[in-house]
Amino acid sequence: MSEHKLLMIPGPIEFEPEVMQRMSSPSLSHVDPSFIVSFGNALSYMKKVWKCPDGQPFIIAGTGTLAMEMAVANLVECGDHVLVISTGYFGERYANILKRLGAEVDVLNAKIGAVVSEEVIAAQLEKKNYKLMTLTHVDTSTGVKSDAKQFGALGKKYNVLTVLDGVCSVAGEEIQQQKWDIDVVLTASQKAVGVPAGLALLMVSPQAIEVFKNRSSPVVSYYSDWSNWLPIMEAYSHGKPSYFGTPAVHLVLALEKSLELIVKEGLEIRFNRHETLAQAFRKALQVLGFGFIAKDECAANTLSAIVFPENLDGAKFIQSVAASGVIVAGGLLADRKSTYFRVGHMGSVKAIDLVTTLEAIENGLLSCDHSFEKGVGTKRFLELI
Ligand code: PMP
Repeated sequence: MSEHKLLMIPGPIEFEPEVMQRMSSPSLSHVDPSFIVSFGNALSYMKKVWKCPDGQPFIIAGTGTLAMEMAVANLVECGDHVLVISTGYFGERYANILKRLGAEVDVLNAKIGAVVSEEVIAAQLEKKNYKLMTLTHVDTSTGVKSDAKQFGALGKKYNVLTVLDGVCSVAGEEIQQQKWDIDVVLTASQKAVGVPAGLALLMVSPQAIEVFKNRSSPVVSYYSDWSNWLPIMEAYSHGKPSYFGTPAVHLVLALEKSLELIVKEGLEIRFNRHETLAQAFRKALQVLGFGFIAKDECAANTLSAIVFPENLDGAKFIQSVAASGVIVAGGLLADRKSTYFRVGHMGSVKAIDLVTTLEAIENGLLSCDHSFEKGVGTKRFLELI
């Protein structure tokens, strides 16, 4: 294997050594008594991390896109009206998933770098009766964070089911699912939850489970159907073996460990760490001449979408950052891909990781002949943390 470079993309992220140790533990049956305990622990840790003591957690082999599809495949029926609130690429993806399921979809698009305002959402909910609405908490293409608390409150006020795509936020940004009345909060393992890719994670409110149980048509996807998975989740949480599809045993072991570490750190401390590092990092980048896709007031703490200074060769810059030992991600929005890059700062991220990243960014700027005072970005970052 080649020399390890620091992975600072918005997922997969750098994982804690104790989590990686779980991935290399000896092989284990999915009905082994010790695995049943680990699965049950992971399910109950999820309720703590999601702040949803009465929710129904699901741990399913798959990616975040499966989690998105599973949530709506179980709650939406053909012809249902659904509202998608979109702040970028992943909002668009949600609309496509819903259309494929036969839903009648309306999309409220934010201006690039901004959120859709409460007034605009409320006006749309006044106009039409929707069964469900979706929101991307942090859109990984723009680094825009929407207001999840307000989303839950609007859902409650207008009696609309709420599905929050928390793939780039759960365990990195504050979410109080139960208190904020959000019906489904979903994520994937490779982001701030801190586990290698391969798990789709969902937490579903008792009200949404009731809606699912009262469907008039079967769920169109066999693998996604909660009728198949509910008995499995219930069995594992009661310490009993069960089978529908073979669980991703090692990923579940890793998830148990990572959620344990997250709970041990304390959610508030963890969210503050993300916020302090994100803000200091962006201030440092500003000093170096970068801009941002997201406006300050709605910028996420889990990643930054960073606009290149004028006339900088973005592709060459990203390559030379990598040559300095740090991997960052390119732009994702089709119409401005080459104008920005993205850095993930979530999960186990520490100040030293961002210092290393800033040094690599400064080296990248130097190799692109961008003039600035060397060390000024790192200095600003260290002043602020
Ligand atoms: N939603 C958001 C906000 C994401 O960032 C991603 C992944 N980058 C997804 C959904 C899809 O997740 P996955 O790639 O694991 O399918």
